Amino acid sequence: MEKSKAIETISLSKNYGKTTGIKNLDLTVERGEIFGFIGPNGAGKSTTIRLLFNLIFPNSGSGKVLGYDIIKQSKLIKFKTGYLPAEVNYYYKMTVKELLEYSQRFYGVNDSKRINELADDLDLKTNLKIRDLSLGNKKKVSLIQSLLHKPELLILDEPTSGLDPLIQSKVFELFKKENERGCTIFFSSHVLNDVQKICSRVAIIQKGSIIKLESIDALRKKMLKKISISFTENQNDINLELPATVDFKRVNNQMNFLFNGDMNELISYLANFQIENISIEEPTLEEIFLHYYQNAESGNEL
Ligand code: ADP
Repeated sequence: MEKSKAIETISLSKNYGKTTGIKNLDLTVERGEIFGFIGPNGAGKSTTIRLLFNLIFPNSGSGKVLGYDIIKQSKLIKFKTGYLPAEVNYYYKMTVKELLEYSQRFYGVNDSKRINELADDLDLKTNLKIRDLSLGNKKKVSLIQSLLHKPELLILDEPTSGLDPLIQSKVFELFKKENERGCTIFFSSHVLNDVQKICSRVAIIQKGSIIKLESIDALRKKMLKKISISFTENQNDINLELPATVDFKRVNNQMNFLFNGDMNELISYLANFQIENISIEEPTLEEIFLHYYQNAESGNEL
């Protein structure tokens, strides 16, 4: 018999009064994937995740997690799945160790080795009181909580928001390790850069609907960089005739544009000019939507 999908929703919808949470959402995540669920704030990511855990009820549609119905078999889902909510409440007076042991007991597990390994992986001291932890360390605690019982599937709502880059990369290392153990990982983010680091596939959600489902390779080809250059003086002969620039704006000796070509080509071209300053940034999701996904909506090929 074919194994059930890790996650499957069919035409799942949720409104909050007149506000759309999600609309006719069809989402399939295969077992074994690291799957990114990306979209700007308010797109419907938390709504989807809360529906999967039966924390809110859908208005219509259906869903399964690990083959179990999200409404009728929610207890089983909670048992076999790890969940990191976007915001977590803590028992502030406990130490990290006490809290993690306490959480483990909910699953009938008593495995201090697992607690210590996970804490080591994320460089977390377990003898400190929760109330004395920084925000980043509190997030580590809740991440570990979601993994204590070696779940088959991990669902995380914005797991890396508020973490500094060094901790973020430790978290991603941990995800990879858990994935190699056989755990399917589904996580939401509003930062594209996050998902491209470790996901095999991504779904892009906007205004409650999935507007694109892509392999990360396809997405990477569209990785625009936002480039700002100021030249030391007004050099009129600069016309940047590079094929991969879009949204080009120039005011005197300042140029701003989006670029998705070969960086080496750009750098060697720019070496011909006197540059005062250059910055290369990740564009926001909104900027990427503007350049690619709005075209997709109007039916143009990407
Ligand atoms: P995301 O997680 O992508 O930031 P959400 O799922 O939280 O998005 O929100 C989707 C939409 O639903 C937003 O317009 C948001 O304002 C609205 N929404 C979410 N939760 C509630 C709520 N409890 N009451 C009313 N509106 C809500």
